[in-house]
Amino acid sequence: MRLDKTINATLHRKEMLPFSRPSLGDEEIAEVVHSMKSGWITTGPKCHQFEEDVKHYVGAQHAIALTSATAGLHLALLTAGIGSGDEVITTSITFAATANMITLVGARPVFVDIGNDLNIRPDLIEAAISPRTKAIMPVHFAGYPCDMDRIIEIARRHNLTVIEDAAHAIGTEYRGRRIGSIGDITVFSFHPIKNITTGEGGMLVTDNAEFAEKVRLLKFHGIQKDAWKRYGAKEIPQYEILFPGFKYNLTDLQAALGIHQMKKLDRFIEQRTRYSELYTGLLNNAEGILLPELPLQKGTRHARHLYVILADIDRLSIDRDRFMAEMLEANIGIGLHFPAIHLQPYYQRTFGYARGMLPKAEFVSDRIFSLPLYPGMSEADVRDAASAVREIASKNMR
Ligand SMILES: *Cc1c(COP(=O)(O)O)cnc(C)c1O
Repeated sequence: MRLDKTINATLHRKEMLPFSRPSLGDEEIAEVVHSMKSGWITTGPKCHQFEEDVKHYVGAQHAIALTSATAGLHLALLTAGIGSGDEVITTSITFAATANMITLVGARPVFVDIGNDLNIRPDLIEAAISPRTKAIMPVHFAGYPCDMDRIIEIARRHNLTVIEDAAHAIGTEYRGRRIGSIGDITVFSFHPIKNITTGEGGMLVTDNAEFAEKVRLLKFHGIQKDAWKRYGAKEIPQYEILFPGFKYNLTDLQAALGIHQMKKLDRFIEQRTRYSELYTGLLNNAEGILLPELPLQKGTRHARHLYVILADIDRLSIDRDRFMAEMLEANIGIGLHFPAIHLQPYYQRTFGYARGMLPKAEFVSDRIFSLPLYPGMSEADVRDAASAVREIASKNMR
């Protein structure tokens, strides 16, 4: 790809504006040091504390810290009994993990089209239900809540499990309830670009005690007790393997970050919201750009994980990839969240998906990209990124 067009010199930042940067402070650093000096660095008291904090924050009965949200989705599907020959309804505009985990437990991902808010359309779910359907896996895209009342109502009527991919949605509220207190199982991510981070990490929450028990076993070899309890000072080391499990337990070094990140979450979301609103003010009348429609009813909080825009390629002389290249040339970092899964080679080849099946997802997939959004950036950074978008769009109008 050629990167040869010159950008207006006034807009060209000298320093690259990163797409994302984690917001870690002295508290996180001190907590990690504390773990290291304590002699207990893997799953232990800090993971337990982090689980308690997330559980209370989201309003769930059980929380289990894991190595990633991908691990969480994997265990959620296994725990819900989903396997070979089953179908799981989800969205195509999501990260690889969502569909990959459905596929890796042996099930078929059934993609349903999205709406103007970029979330799965509840009114299309029912038509996608077959006798093999076992679960619905909604994704709260960018932290904007899916219409959970309608999704839960459909799921109850058809006896389906609702597993929420809430990788973007810690802190999201839907009709006065936090995400994590609604579906049967909810999974959060703490990857470095997400709203809070543990380096890598995830958390599965549920109100179902049987599910929680199963996930605790599956996350560590199918062995009954947590290691830090097994190695208690006066206990004879013993364990029983109830069934073969995985190695998905978070470490205390990581939970040390999580404990402090949780305390900062609301402030992070407030800052992300301010920057998102500034972006919208600067971009909503820009030519060559389309924005998602994200109405905020009373009781709704958008966690503002991503600020995405659509390049209006029908009116531009460049495609989305060229638009992103010009953003990078202007020293503005960008992200791609997400190209449609149903158009990925594996999914076309394996499940027979093809272009034309999900018109809105394809429209979005061809046009979408993400602008820098994180608490550590400045208002001037937001203005720089928005100016670059406007400039690139206006000089490339057809
Ligand atoms: C990031 C992400 C995941 C995976 O999270 P990890 O913690 O990196 O495994 C899953 N689903 C969506 C929608 C994501 O954006």
